[in-house]
Amino acid sequence: MSLKFSSAADRLMDKANMLKSKDLYPFFRQIGDSEGTVVKIDGRDQIMIGSNNYLGLTHHPHVKEAAIKAIEKYGTGCTGSRFLNGNLTIHEELEEKLATYLGHEKALIFSTGMQTNLGALSAICGPRDCMLFDSENHASIIDASRLAMGTTFKYRHNDMESLEEQLEANIDRFQKVIIVADGVFSMTGDIANLPEMVRLAEKYGAYIYVDDAHGIGVMGEKGAGTMNHFGVTDKVHLNMGTFSKSFASIGGVLSGDAETINYVKHLARSFMFSASMAPSAVATVSACIDVINEDDTLHEKLWDNVQFMRNGFQEIGFYTYNSQTPIIPIFIGDDVKSMLVTKFLSDHGVFATPVVPPAVPKGEALIRTSYMATHSKSELTKVLEVFAKAKKEFDLPSTMGH
Ligand code: PMP
Repeated sequence: MSLKFSSAADRLMDKANMLKSKDLYPFFRQIGDSEGTVVKIDGRDQIMIGSNNYLGLTHHPHVKEAAIKAIEKYGTGCTGSRFLNGNLTIHEELEEKLATYLGHEKALIFSTGMQTNLGALSAICGPRDCMLFDSENHASIIDASRLAMGTTFKYRHNDMESLEEQLEANIDRFQKVIIVADGVFSMTGDIANLPEMVRLAEKYGAYIYVDDAHGIGVMGEKGAGTMNHFGVTDKVHLNMGTFSKSFASIGGVLSGDAETINYVKHLARSFMFSASMAPSAVATVSACIDVINEDDTLHEKLWDNVQFMRNGFQEIGFYTYNSQTPIIPIFIGDDVKSMLVTKFLSDHGVFATPVVPPAVPKGEALIRTSYMATHSKSELTKVLEVFAKAKKEFDLPSTMGH
């Protein structure tokens, strides 16, 4: 017998059940096989445009071989936290490699990106501190604010006037004020205005924490992140990244100055009381950095594909927001329509996911699409053809105002 839940939870389940009964439920789809850009679902091939595998490294032979070798040397898991019995030489080696790659003094690796934000933000934001959040920050940052003892205020999405108002109102009320923003926003694919954020942080004496989950591996020179893209690496106090996207693995990294990282290492509960990254996951990330450093064509191919798709969608007449990255959202509007379109795409061999309220405001459902260095032009051309058909079939909007 089920436990009792809130009426909001009941409404959510009713909606999920309604969608399932109409064969429109787009979540938890089972992937049978994966070759990176193509996955098998119900025995049928689908072109994957719903993944964060931006560099396509999940299937790179050198990366796979490194993971296998790590299992052979260290076994499959660490069975404990770094703090106690789970601190391998390769964890520390990876931290050094990441610090060099990102351009910060020190790096600390966590077992997931979510845990990185939960642990780091709750460690740095004590009862006398305050965090200023972009209104579109990732869920893990919001949950971190629930764990942190400090206070949180929001500013309007990427609106630096709104941020300045919050700085003015709060800078004298707290011991420290930390501006927290995604480097690349995960749903809309736009980039944080880091240069202006740096100027404001210096003007008011605030700190900057960037969640660059979608930026590391992608933005800047050799993928050294959004802070590198803007040339402000030394002005970003703490930078966070995950390995669950470009680095083809699972885990997260926090980088910054040695002293702050050492504090976080001894305060972040999600770091101290959770098992360390599995050896194969560590070796995967390390091998990805080697491949990135050696192969100059990866980023060329990625940005070429991104340009091709952004132009293609705009030619068909879709509204793609202010996307400047491999994440290209397609505005749909009505949330049920976004499910119908997702099903249509799937029936025509394309895997993408809808983003519906409460993840976006009511009436602003979108289909989130994202691209890899390894997509071929023929795969991408097919995707555009299917979207062009969907536009006609469902009379999809060309602007946000319709
Ligand atoms: N931050 C952002 C912006 C993300 O998009 C995600 C994952 N979707 C995370 C943090 C959490 O990363 P992980 O998957 O490694 O837990």
